[in-house]
Amino acid sequence: MFRRLISRDEALQRIRRYVKLAALGVEEVELRSAFGRVLAEDVRASVDVPPFHRATMDGYAVKAKDTFGASETNPKSLRVVGSVEVGKMPATRLETGQAMAVATGSALPEGSDAVLPLEWTRTGSTPNEILALRAVTTGENVMERGHDIKRGELLLKEGTRLTARELGVLSALGIARVKVYLKPKVAILSTGQELVEPGKPLTSGKIYDVNWITLYASVLECGGRPEFLGIVEDSVEKMENTMRKGLEMADVVVASGATSVGATDIMRSIVNRLGKPGVIVDGVRMKPGKPTIIGVADGKPIFCLPGNPMSALVAFYNFVAPVLRAMAGLPPVRRRFVEAVLAGRVMPASGRLTTIPVRLEKGQEQLVAHPILKASGAITALALADGYVEIPEDVKFLESGERVKVYLFRGEWKP
Ligand code: AMP
Ligand code: MG
Repeated sequence: MFRRLISRDEALQRIRRYVKLAALGVEEVELRSAFGRVLAEDVRASVDVPPFHRATMDGYAVKAKDTFGASETNPKSLRVVGSVEVGKMPATRLETGQAMAVATGSALPEGSDAVLPLEWTRTGSTPNEILALRAVTTGENVMERGHDIKRGELLLKEGTRLTARELGVLSALGIARVKVYLKPKVAILSTGQELVEPGKPLTSGKIYDVNWITLYASVLECGGRPEFLGIVEDSVEKMENTMRKGLEMADVVVASGATSVGATDIMRSIVNRLGKPGVIVDGVRMKPGKPTIIGVADGKPIFCLPGNPMSALVAFYNFVAPVLRAMAGLPPVRRRFVEAVLAGRVMPASGRLTTIPVRLEKGQEQLVAHPILKASGAITALALADGYVEIPEDVKFLESGERVKVYLFRGEWKP
């Protein structure tokens, strides 16, 4: 059957035309359930943190100028007028010549501006006297009120993925519940009677299912809630029923396999039966990723990705990830890249946007990108790669030594 292949950008445009790329909704959750969720509101500080000038060492709250000039040989005498318990506010002001005992975390009494550490003091001649053996400067050993967080400050932006660090900030502000975006629910199915789920014995002619978990994990990365519906054998009826079930229970359906031209090429007709408008993308000028079919049924996107593990993932990154991230309230991916020189000549697929996974190595003066030239059926090509190079449709070949942009799978690349 004839397919008019379109470019990646045209495919993305069609997706944008038929699918609403917006967050699905908002819910409020407790902090302990908020890990990994996406913040649905800006968070401003409603309090100063710390809420009072706070001692950062055990010792004595003092007026710094009372200690000026103090030394072992010339100690300054201070009168101890009380102590401040952690968790209590001091009742009295500190006057000139006075000291008040404090512990780490204590509030400083009014009138004091520094903490003289215990080890810089000696007991004096009376129980109420201490001797300062060194001088402290104003603000020394004190965390000023609002030093950590100032009231009114914009601390966390809508669209932030909450990790331990951001959750700590929320708790410091006394926030117990937080508004987060709903997670798009994603139904995943693997098609192919050759597939066996891991944990079961491999009988002859079969292979273990890879895409179920690579797609499952990729959905999690994009802020979605995956549900694996299982391996479906190559039967039109079974695939159609499973996809219908997926559409009922989920916001997005992601299938893999059975999209290439051949005896098992049945996805297109199934998608067209699932709802309107049906198939919106039927093949993309990409390698890998060409037999990608995208459909929409009553507003819900259906992605039928190629069966080859690497192709399935490349198609996922290109087409499924932007949709899921938008639905999950996450900003578009900011792809990070490094510049490198190519270690070998590569021949892209002519007329198709070619993705080539590469391994990075530190060369003499620059980074060197080693293409990993494995078939698109190889899952290791991506697992061993540090990143990938994209070669535009109209480029015929890249010579060894040519400068390329390597998009990184994670963070900054370090050897
Ligand atoms: P298909 O598009 O169904 O013809 O699949 C293309 C190739 O990918 C075939 O070699 C399949 O065996 C393989 N394949 C399909 N689905 C999976 C999967 N879930 N895990 C691993 N390999 C797969
Ligand atoms: Mg198949």
